[in-house]
Amino acid sequence: MSTKDFLEKDYYKTLGVTKGASADEIKKSYRKLARKYHPDANKGDSKSEERFKEISEAYNVLSDEKRRKEYDEARSLFGAGGVRMPGSAGPPGGAGGYNFDLGDLFGGNTSSAGGRLGDLLGGVFGGGGRTTTQARPRRGADVETEASLTFSDAIDGATVSLRLAGEGPCKECAGTGAKAGTVPRVCPTCEGTGQGSRNLGSFAFSEPCKTCRGRGLVVDDPCPACSGSGRAMSTRTIQARIPAGVGDGQRIKLKGKGAPGERGGPPGDLYVKVHVSSHPVFGRSGHNLTVTVPVTFPEATLGAEIKVPSHRGMPVSVRIPAGTPSGRTFRVRGKGVRRPDGTVGDLLVTVSVQVPQDLDDKARDALENFRDATAGPDPRDEVLRQAKA
Ligand SMILES: [Zn+2]
Ligand SMILES: [Zn+2]
Repeated sequence: MSTKDFLEKDYYKTLGVTKGASADEIKKSYRKLARKYHPDANKGDSKSEERFKEISEAYNVLSDEKRRKEYDEARSLFGAGGVRMPGSAGPPGGAGGYNFDLGDLFGGNTSSAGGRLGDLLGGVFGGGGRTTTQARPRRGADVETEASLTFSDAIDGATVSLRLAGEGPCKECAGTGAKAGTVPRVCPTCEGTGQGSRNLGSFAFSEPCKTCRGRGLVVDDPCPACSGSGRAMSTRTIQARIPAGVGDGQRIKLKGKGAPGERGGPPGDLYVKVHVSSHPVFGRSGHNLTVTVPVTFPEATLGAEIKVPSHRGMPVSVRIPAGTPSGRTFRVRGKGVRRPDGTVGDLLVTVSVQVPQDLDDKARDALENFRDATAGPDPRDEVLRQAKA
């Protein structure tokens, strides 16, 4: 069990109580559920067994006032349902945007939060007693893959097919490890708890049950395809929803789409690195769209109302004030890319003043008249003076 799982698990939901439930309500609900899903009452039913373990885990935390407080704090700190995506605060097009791993936070285990959570996690599993690491359900591995999106799909969001190679449940035995037509049975030595004990003098140590190696289940007839491990290498294709507004190089997290867990542990997460193709007209700057449009010298000088393209919409009008220099950028609000919080970025319109290439006689006369009418000091006087200083 990892810190991530801990933060992602809703113990209140598991026990069917509200967040404000009293200790009594929690105890009542736990007893009811524990009776229903107890392995003794559901021999060989791995789903019930799984559920029973979840219920015990949830109760172990919520029944302890101190642990419950820490659990609530951790979840309000990091967000229930996993890690909040700090996407909108990330750098433009940010590779760093969603690339955030709690493991980094707690890996060193030197912070007080890390230590506290570590202690907490060490104790949450098992029916009151402690189990060793091997006996606990293990979360599936995180999986990395890549996806290519068109410029427009990245803005609107898209469903993509991803081919993933990795270890998964064996198809022959559906991951049970037991030969087709047979099912694993509850381990007679540990009665499904996965725990054994060893006496050393006056101390009793808890350790994984030797008969079932901590799994709580034994397989009499191992599946020939996976030799009883229940796992096999395979490729699978999944449909993944890429949220609207992703940027090139960004890594997005798809919770629970990684490798399956072991011993009933939850699946890992899938990280998808997104490649976004460029667009002939628009560019991206974070959640703003950028576009460069030409304007004529008279438009820039005298001012004008110009039409500029918007992404997937009608052209929008932008007022260019008189005396606009080339390279100035205008902002059209709300015509950019949708952010995870629902707000929308802007369209940044940069004007580029065009210099006429071919002048006919009339235009040349007009321009020469303009030159004469605006004759004044050399416009480079200031820069020449400063260069000498
Ligand atoms: Zn056993
Ligand atoms: Zn198998």
